[in-house]
Amino acid sequence: MKGVPGVGRLDPAAGEAHKRHMVERFTGSFTQQEPIPEEGIAAALEVLRSGRLHRYNLAPGESGEVALLEQEFAAMVGAKYCVAVASGGYALATALRALGVRPGERVLTNAFTLAPVPGAIASLGAVPAFVGVTEALTIDLDDLAEKAGQARVLLLSHMRGHVCDMDRLMAICDAAGLAVVEDCAHTMGAAWRGVPSGRHGRVGCYSTQTYKHLNSGEGGLLVTDDTELAARAVILSGSYMLHDRHLAAPDREVFERVKYDTPNVSGRMDNLRAAILRPQLRRLDEQVARWNARYRVIESGLRGCPGLQVIERPPEEAFVGSSFQFLLPGWPAEAVRAVVEACAARGVELKWFGAPEPHGFTSRYDSWRYVAAPAMPRTDRVLAGLLDMRVPLTFSLADCALIARIIRDEVVAAHRGL
Ligand SMILES: *Cc1c(COP(=O)(O)O)cnc(C)c1O
Repeated sequence: MKGVPGVGRLDPAAGEAHKRHMVERFTGSFTQQEPIPEEGIAAALEVLRSGRLHRYNLAPGESGEVALLEQEFAAMVGAKYCVAVASGGYALATALRALGVRPGERVLTNAFTLAPVPGAIASLGAVPAFVGVTEALTIDLDDLAEKAGQARVLLLSHMRGHVCDMDRLMAICDAAGLAVVEDCAHTMGAAWRGVPSGRHGRVGCYSTQTYKHLNSGEGGLLVTDDTELAARAVILSGSYMLHDRHLAAPDREVFERVKYDTPNVSGRMDNLRAAILRPQLRRLDEQVARWNARYRVIESGLRGCPGLQVIERPPEEAFVGSSFQFLLPGWPAEAVRAVVEACAARGVELKWFGAPEPHGFTSRYDSWRYVAAPAMPRTDRVLAGLLDMRVPLTFSLADCALIARIIRDEVVAAHRGL
C-alpha cells in the first residue's frame, strides 16, 4: 500500500491532515430508513384486525386498500391505469409480458442498472442487449440511436435517479418504433420538464421496496395509458377474473378481449402493504423536498474538490436525491479503493461501481454473465471512477455536511498522492 494515500491514516498521530484538525467520524447508519408513519401503522392494524389481507377479499361496499392505492397513484402521476404488484422487478417483467415480448427476443436495456432489470428480461427467456452509460450517469443516447433498430422494446432504467434527455430519447424510440418501459425504482416523484418520471414511455414501473421512495418492505406499481396493456397487466398479476374490483383498470369489455389468452402469473399486492403505502404517498412531495435538501448539502460540500467530479443535474430534471453519486475520473483503481476504505474507516459507506468484484449487489453488464455481451470500454471508463452512497432521511442536514467533509478530506489526501 506504499504510495497509496488514505490507507493507514486511522492512527490520529499519523498523517498531515490529522495534525491540522480533529478526525471526524460519522456514526449513523446508511441503511436506516424512517419509521412507517403512525397513520400507516394504524391502517395496517385495521387490516390485520379485519383478517381481509387478500386484495379481493372485501366486505360489502368496501373498495380495499390496494384498489384505493392504485387509484391514488394513477391520479398522482396522471395515468389512466395502475396495477399494484408484489415487487418492482415483477412490475418490469409484467410490462414486458403485456407487451408480448417472446423468448429469445432481444430487449434493449441499460448496461448500468440494478440486477432485477436485466433479470426481468431474462425471466421471460428474452435476451438483454445493453446500451452504455455517459458521465452524466444516464443512458448513452448516441449508443441507443445506433442500436434502436435491433429490438422492439427498450427497458429504460433511470438508475440512481438520473433522468436522461427524455425528449431526445422518445424521439429516437418513436422513430425506431421502440416501445419504452421505464424503470422508475429511483425516480418515483421525479420529472422531466414537468412530466412525471414513468409517463413518457408506454409503461412506468415503480418499486416500494424498503430502500426506495415509499416503503412497504416489498412491492411495485405499474402505470400506463394503454387500455389493452393495462387489462393484460391486471390479469397477469393474478386477478382471478375479479377485475371488477379494480378502481384504476379498464372497462369490463376490454377484459373480455384478453381474458382467455393472458396467463395468471400470480404477483399481487396485499391490503397490508397498500395500507402502509397510502399515507406515505400522501406525503411524498414533502419527503422529496427533504431528500433534496440533504442532497444539496452534500453536493455543495463536495463541489470544487480537486480530482472529484459532481454530477451536474440538468434544469429540466426534477430529481429525488435519495442517493448521491460522484466520479473520480481517471483515477487508478488502487487510489479509488483507498478512498473507499478510508471513508469506511470514518463511518462513511461508499459503493464503488468500478470494483473488480461486485459486493452484495450487481449493477453492471459484465456481472450478468448469463448474457453474452460485448465489452463496453466507454461504460467501463465511467464506472471505474463511480462512487455512490445512500442518503436515508434519518440523516440530518448536519450529518450530510459531516459526510461531505469526510469524503472531501479523504479525496483531497488521496488526490495529493496521485
Ligand atoms: C430496486 C430496483 C428495482 C427492483 O425493485 P424490487 O422492488 O426490489 O424488485 C429495479 N430497478 C432498480 C434500478 C432498482 O434499484
